[in-house]
Amino acid sequence: MKDRSPLRRAAAGPAKTSALESATLHSAITPAGTPSSEAVRKAGVACVKRLPAYLQMLRVLHGEGQEYVSGTVLATTHNLEPVIVRKDLAVTGIVGTPRRGFRVADLIHAIERFLGWDGQTKAVLLGVGNLGAALLGYRGFENFGLRIAGAFDADPHKVGTWVQGRRVQALSMLVPFARRSSITLGVLTVPAPAAQAAAELLVQAGIHGIWNFTPVKLNLPESVIVQTEDLAQGLAVLSHELRIEHRSGAGKGADQAR
Ligand code: ATP
Repeated sequence: MKDRSPLRRAAAGPAKTSALESATLHSAITPAGTPSSEAVRKAGVACVKRLPAYLQMLRVLHGEGQEYVSGTVLATTHNLEPVIVRKDLAVTGIVGTPRRGFRVADLIHAIERFLGWDGQTKAVLLGVGNLGAALLGYRGFENFGLRIAGAFDADPHKVGTWVQGRRVQALSMLVPFARRSSITLGVLTVPAPAAQAAAELLVQAGIHGIWNFTPVKLNLPESVIVQTEDLAQGLAVLSHELRIEHRSGAGKGADQAR
């Protein structure tokens, strides 16, 4: 299995990519209109991670009717060096106009194309608990071209109920549903002990990209791309940093009081 955790990948070097980035790899398009996975690979994880933030701002500007934006404005807003923003935008193939900057609409389109968010990725979700239901209800995925087309659960009491506008289906329906609906991505929100078997079921259904919200390190064929969002790990880092901050803050306060 390819573990695509961004942290681990960053440590391992730029050769490996996440599920999202990998989907991206195959959709990158050069100005000439030819797909350039090499260009995306070269862009690196950090660049790919910054693009959604630019996109969000650009969509706001577009909504406000702004026609052009400069790289400097994007840099200032995101607290980045202008040269970094320029390099990031260059990978999308967009070219700015001297003194005016970039056409907002064109830049939005270029970033969306680069990320593969201009089409639609269809997903299924396994495990309609609290987290699963929350993800099902999150409208923001539409902005990333992601549509959760089906929701599945092992609990017979949940099967047949409606959650966030989707009818919860039995696991036995997963394989035919995924094949019929050309599903490419699986969202895994089952409890940890059920994760491996549920992931294997997704693979059996022909799904090669798994967005894993369980803390389990899945053991799957090499061809399967897994992006793990370990919420406990993220929270642990945050809590730890908060404590360090608090301690140094308390230290400073104590020093000042003396
Ligand atoms: P959450 O963990 O999302 O807060 P929860 O506490 O309600 O929700 P969990 O025990 O974590 O429930 O399980 C999440 C969901 O996964 C439940 O709806 C459960 O029925 C479902 N589930 C458990 N095992 C499987 C499985 N093998 N395949 C699909 N769904 C499963």
